[in-house]
Amino acid sequence: MPEKLAKDLYLLRVRLPRFKPPVLNAYLVAGDRSLLIDMGLYSLGALESLLAELGELGFRPADIDEVLATHSHIDHIGLAGIVAECRGAPVKMGAEECSILKEGGFQGYMDKVARVLAMQGIPEEVVRGMMASIGDEYPVPGVRRLYTEVLPRSVSCVLREGDTVEAGRYSFNVYVVSGHSPGHVVLHDPDHGVLVVGDHLLPKTTPQVSPLTPEDNPLARYLASLDKLERLDASLVLPGHEEVYRDHRARIRELRRHHEERLREMLKLLREGPRTALDIASRVKWNVDYASWDEMPPMDQYFAFAETISHLNYLVAKGLVRWEDRSGARVYLLSGQRGTE
Ligand SMILES: [Zn+2]
Repeated sequence: MPEKLAKDLYLLRVRLPRFKPPVLNAYLVAGDRSLLIDMGLYSLGALESLLAELGELGFRPADIDEVLATHSHIDHIGLAGIVAECRGAPVKMGAEECSILKEGGFQGYMDKVARVLAMQGIPEEVVRGMMASIGDEYPVPGVRRLYTEVLPRSVSCVLREGDTVEAGRYSFNVYVVSGHSPGHVVLHDPDHGVLVVGDHLLPKTTPQVSPLTPEDNPLARYLASLDKLERLDASLVLPGHEEVYRDHRARIRELRRHHEERLREMLKLLREGPRTALDIASRVKWNVDYASWDEMPPMDQYFAFAETISHLNYLVAKGLVRWEDRSGARVYLLSGQRGTE
């Protein structure tokens, strides 16, 4: 059932079959120039769920004046092809977010991820397991076709910082934030105190930050974007998953604390001696239900590993940590520590 959040503003809970998290929050702004924000996974179950939620409010995709995706992850944009066909107009997304939809973008993304893993000296069979878990058939069949054929036809990469999106009684300023994805879009209506944050500021889960090159520093970009969002006034915060909440500044403080603790935890592990990123990833206390690293499925191992490299790259950029290449694997040391070879 859709939930009314404010006048002409509705939360649509779209089921994401066999996906984690299991529900996407799409938002519908009704009124003249209606707007749909995010859509759901590329699957029949998600489509049925989106259509049922819209139908409860008397809408079909063809009735919606404007559709936009906060970012390029499949649980938010997967249905863009179908929605765009129904409307006869493309789904809008942030300009910086579109690199994965450009020619060679999908394969380029997969190659970049593989290179980041290989530079860390990850054993080949582990790389294969991790890549398979984020590859062609995850989380639904046809991911490669979706990103190489369907979405480039259906998505218009036009949203930029400073743009305005008008919808009914709401007028949203567009902000571009980076870290969870390259050019995630956040929408802010200052008059109504509404802030649409997508996956950049989830209320419970810590948004994932993954490096796209061996030296990439997505955590620095993510933390800088929190500073930007902290300056906005809001009383209704609309995330891409989990529950709608009120106080984004309190959540920003929690997320900053979380990353500071994680950085301290890694520095403590490095004080015990030089370690590889995989060694550190397997020792960090991740907030997951698995008893040990070996029990974690490859997808979760990949996320944890990418998160580890993001934190290590941040510490390297700060000058607190350095790395040495030892037989094709990066070994991390505190900056003052001597190498052991
Ligand atoms: Zn998401």
